[in-house]
Amino acid sequence: MAEFDYDVLVIGAGPGGYVAAIRAAQLGLKTACVESRGTLGGTCLNVGCIPSKALLHGSELFEEAHDGTLAKFGVKTGKVEIDVSALQGEKAAAVKGLTGGIEFLFKKNKVEWLKGTGSFKDAHTVEVEGKSYTARNVVIATGSSVTPLPGVEVDNDKGVIVDSTGALALPAVPKKMVVIGGGVIGLELGSVWRRLGADVTVVEFLDKLLPGMDGDVRKEAAKIFKKQGMDLKLGTKVTGATVKGKKATLTLEPAAGGDSETLEADCVLVAIGRRPNTDGLNLAAAGLDTNQRGQIETDHDFRTKVDGVWAVGDVIPGPMLAHKAEDEGIAVAENIAGLVGIVNHAVIPSVVYTTPEFAGVGMTEEAAKDAGHDVKIGKFPMMANSRAKTNGEPDGFVKVIADAKDDRVLGVWIIASVAGTMIAQAAQAMEFGALSEDIAYTCHAHPTHSEALKEAAMSVRGKPIHI
Ligand code: FAD
Ligand code: NAD
Repeated sequence: MAEFDYDVLVIGAGPGGYVAAIRAAQLGLKTACVESRGTLGGTCLNVGCIPSKALLHGSELFEEAHDGTLAKFGVKTGKVEIDVSALQGEKAAAVKGLTGGIEFLFKKNKVEWLKGTGSFKDAHTVEVEGKSYTARNVVIATGSSVTPLPGVEVDNDKGVIVDSTGALALPAVPKKMVVIGGGVIGLELGSVWRRLGADVTVVEFLDKLLPGMDGDVRKEAAKIFKKQGMDLKLGTKVTGATVKGKKATLTLEPAAGGDSETLEADCVLVAIGRRPNTDGLNLAAAGLDTNQRGQIETDHDFRTKVDGVWAVGDVIPGPMLAHKAEDEGIAVAENIAGLVGIVNHAVIPSVVYTTPEFAGVGMTEEAAKDAGHDVKIGKFPMMANSRAKTNGEPDGFVKVIADAKDDRVLGVWIIASVAGTMIAQAAQAMEFGALSEDIAYTCHAHPTHSEALKEAAMSVRGKPIHI
């Protein structure tokens, strides 16, 4: 009889867990994955990346039809209306197709799905629905969930104060929406409902939107979202909320202290961050604990301090991003199999999928200077890029941050309609240790938005052509 039931048992089937399980099975390891949700794919596929992008796409199409963009290009439409239930149906179909796809991949790769909630009995034993399973290696990939805001109680069923999951499922366009938190979720989902007709106010504690992004990008973001009609209350905190029937009243205060004010809304979206999921895992039984931020610490290979227990994704330190979790999932499986699995955490792109998109990879200018780099900056406006201009997408710029001494690219920041696509090139260049000169002398197809990256790289040495 085998010493363990499995070579690898993964807890959680989000992008970190399901990818780890599939790669482990591909490498010939007997693998199971525990998932408590009714469908595979985790936050990302069920209530995160995918449903939000379906709503973003649908609402973009509506806005283009509605705001005259289509008409400008000669596309005649009749009266344009939004059918929220059809939009929600399309979103549900995307989620169903993709989560079902992971189930298919599990079957194809012979990954066993253990349905239920997993908790440790010891470092090599996990209990699921009253049954114990043993594994030589256990990978914790339990992800994250919404950070609650004291005094502002979320009730997604009522639909007045909601979190991201509730905001993805609204049955109708709210008249007045207040978003608490000017981060990624607030701006993406705030954009969806603004485009569909809601009057949106974003309340952000800090004096700028999008924490973690480059300072210039954050400044520009405020201008762009204001221009689009969002009301921004920066440097402001929400201290409480009351709900009466279908209306919420929020109390706001300047972050620095001062007089409070109230704000009414039909819908309030709480989007102030996410926290790691470790409740119910019984970590102590495995000899594990969490750090001050509730995360499970690992080494560079995703080993926890307990032999045979590994962790990846949102539950460990680092940006809470699906592609970071996926890459860690592949790396952890390869490390378990005795191969060398590596994730370069210095080169993880991040993208905000609004219009325009905001994307970045590597260091911000502020971080590069703080780290002691003497920097040279190259910037190129999208207004001077022929394709963006032709498409009527003048907002944004590309900013290349290079080390002044050796010209190595330290970071790239982009605001452009397709910044999320453009940033892949910057990430790859940085992964290969590119100099700004390497990007500047790479031939870019014309006319593409990507030429703006080439010109920004040329600007590092002061020689762009089109400005
Ligand atoms: P998760 O995806 O959270 O998966 C963890 C899984 O573990 C869950 O299914 C959970 O049910 C299960 N689980 C937890 N505990 C247990 C247990 N004890 N037993 C069994 N199962 C358990 N990231 C991007 O990169 N791009 C985006 O566009 C993007 N959009 C987002 C939009 C929204 C609205 C949200 C909320 C998030 C978004 N993210 C996006 C973040 C992304 O979803 C996460 O970074 C990613 O899902 C993390 O993957 P994970 O595998 O670590 O965890
Ligand atoms: P976030 O950290 O991006 O933004 C939260 C914002 O809320 C911050 O700007 C913070 O200053 C503000 N805030 C905190 N407390 C506040 C208060 N009391 N009042 C007002 N403002 C307050 O978090 P998020 O938007 O909730 O997203 C959570 C995670 O999900 C992020 O880490 C992100 O990486 C991930 N995500 C990624 C994508 C993407 O990649 N496109 C999309 C959605 C979510």
